[in-house]
Amino acid sequence: IKKIGVMTSGGDSPGMNAAIRSVVRTCAYHNVKCVGIYRGYEGVMDGDFKDMDARSVKDIVNKGGTILKSARSKDFRTPEGRKIAHQKLKNAGVDALVVIGGDGSFNGGLIFNQEFDFPVIGIPGTIDNDIFGTSHTLGFDTALNTVVECIDKIRDTASSHNRLFFVEVMGRDVGHIALNAGIGAGAEEILIPEENLGLERLLESLQRSKRSGKSSSIVVVAEGDKIGKNVFELKDYVETNLDEYDVRVSVLGHMQRGGPPSCFDRVLASRMGVKAVESLLEGKSSVMVGLSDGKMILTPLEQAVKGKSQINRELLRVSEIMST
Ligand code: ATP
Repeated sequence: IKKIGVMTSGGDSPGMNAAIRSVVRTCAYHNVKCVGIYRGYEGVMDGDFKDMDARSVKDIVNKGGTILKSARSKDFRTPEGRKIAHQKLKNAGVDALVVIGGDGSFNGGLIFNQEFDFPVIGIPGTIDNDIFGTSHTLGFDTALNTVVECIDKIRDTASSHNRLFFVEVMGRDVGHIALNAGIGAGAEEILIPEENLGLERLLESLQRSKRSGKSSSIVVVAEGDKIGKNVFELKDYVETNLDEYDVRVSVLGHMQRGGPPSCFDRVLASRMGVKAVESLLEGKSSVMVGLSDGKMILTPLEQAVKGKSQINRELLRVSEIMST
């Protein structure tokens, strides 16, 4: 392998820049050429490439977002689009790809690898932590810190006014952000898609916490929660059924996806970039780099896109005990 292309695809997450930097510098370290590809698979099809050297990634380890931009591409989902992409990579002399993104991006990489026998390695970048084959995705830890900081602030108002707050956090179909940040911020209840608490139990729990002398409450709700009501309907439901409560809603939104990456995410990104490039140089392909028990591991892309990341049952129990 003489030239490696690096790109970011799908939703952005903090730590992507640190991963780009790591890929570029590991290439430089091993005397392999590196090109940055702009706007994910769109940029592959457009041949939107830029030669990168160790100096071209200075001052980005601490920046959120992605300097290579990210995109979602319809055309890459078609065989014609992927043929064009392959031709552009060949013309530019790129003979392997590092794709930083989520499971959709890995699906694209997997298909591309199967069609053209083109070496592809994935680095999981998403705040949702919803990828099989790694205990942490890039951006998850930063998002947790952001959410905890926001909930700490909301709690000031909640306790000053004896209010109940429903705080909706991101996470798509999984509750990793809600569960971890909820425990970290001392939430009274955490509603996640993996566990259906049920409306009755929610009411009981809120009444119990009021009786136990709590003057304010924070309920963290994962955006994908399946309790059957969105966060605003939940507010109405609780106000209708528990009239002693003054309820407010806060939807944290996109602030969870931005900001400078935490030290954990910067270190993880640096490790993943090294592992991705060195794995390619060792002849590995169609795998995703991940973290497991503190070590870098590789998982076949096929498994990474099919498998489901599991919620940590021990954390569920901890959150239950903490809310007594
Ligand atoms: P996020 O977690 O933020 O959603 P993602 O990587 O899962 O990130 P997607 O939009 O699902 O984001 O996928 C990114 C891109 O990968 C798509 O826009 C598309 O170009 C490509 N892609 C996804 N699935 C396929 C597929 N089955 N075949 C070819 N390309 C695909």
